[in-house]
Amino acid sequence: MANVQLDLVPASEWGIFDSEQIPALIAGPCSAESEEQMFDTAKQLKELGVNIFRAGIWKPRTRPGCFEGIGSEGLPWMRRIQKELGMKITTEVANTKHVYEALKAGMDMLWIGARTSANPFAMQELADALKGVDIPVLVKNPVNPDVDLWIGALERLNLAGIKKLGVIHRGFSTYGKSKYRNQPQWELPVELRRRFPEMMIIVDPSHMAGKRELIPELAQKAMDLGFDGLMVESHNNPDIALSDSKQQYIPTDMKSMVDKLIIRSTKTDNTQFNENLDELRSYIDDLDTDLIQLLSRRMRVAEKIGNYKKQNNITVLQSGRWDDILAKVHKQASDNNLDLEFIDKVFKAIHQASIDRQTQLMSE
Ligand code: PEP
Ligand code: MN
Repeated sequence: MANVQLDLVPASEWGIFDSEQIPALIAGPCSAESEEQMFDTAKQLKELGVNIFRAGIWKPRTRPGCFEGIGSEGLPWMRRIQKELGMKITTEVANTKHVYEALKAGMDMLWIGARTSANPFAMQELADALKGVDIPVLVKNPVNPDVDLWIGALERLNLAGIKKLGVIHRGFSTYGKSKYRNQPQWELPVELRRRFPEMMIIVDPSHMAGKRELIPELAQKAMDLGFDGLMVESHNNPDIALSDSKQQYIPTDMKSMVDKLIIRSTKTDNTQFNENLDELRSYIDDLDTDLIQLLSRRMRVAEKIGNYKKQNNITVLQSGRWDDILAKVHKQASDNNLDLEFIDKVFKAIHQASIDRQTQLMSE
């Protein structure tokens, strides 16, 4: 993908997040269900210091027949929360009609859901509908782990003039049984941070976890990685929630989960720490240089083998040999306290590069 540039207004200038509140916090129910459920939940959240209230008005559900959201009827309930409690309000939009109605209802911020950000047609429709709009828009990751698709969605909005842009990481779907409802695959938001260091990254541990018990570890991981905020589902009575009942917290439990998080900073003025860190980093730099030299020496030997195979009309691939290498490195990895999966990935990459090089030699 070409080197994408985004023209962004930093979140500190959006007038939505309070810079004193770390992590930035957005909370509220999965779905707007009734005025009473909404107002009671919001009031409790506000008393606990939450200033940004979320609720799904239109719900993208996997199968028809589930509760698909209250629809526009719920918009005045959110407006009341904004007016009477002084909270900022945000909801999900997935098409032009949603954008029109949400803006008319005075939303302070919008988000785009995971099923929508995966669809370029829907994203383009939203970008067109949002032309000229000045409120912030947060884009959830697409359901499939494709960082370019995620960036493409951001790019469409940015080209339509939306500069108050941020993302929400909510994990990725998989087939089959797994611990989390959606796989965190932290490498994707990490890659986004690398490409767009100034862009706000919020983590949604609720949809990632799928159940309450797993939320704290994911929220802590988000803090350890230095992401900016959390979007957490909270309902005044999760047991009777019409959607995502198992992953919603009552407001007090949500707040105590957040209060228990360890917040880390990205840097410090402590000179002793900084000096020690620099020293350790210079060891790492030296080791990286050694690794490159070793990889280069290994590749030169692989080339010799490739030429030798070619002269003797022998195939590049000899599966027995690869099995032997894997068995040997697995043994060495476990003797040296290294994660097998990690070593597997590294050696598969090294082996593949050798094969590619040898195949190239064959055709020269
Ligand atoms: C939601 O936030 O309620 C929601 C539907 O999330 P997602 O788009 O991440 O599935
Ligand atoms: Mn939900």
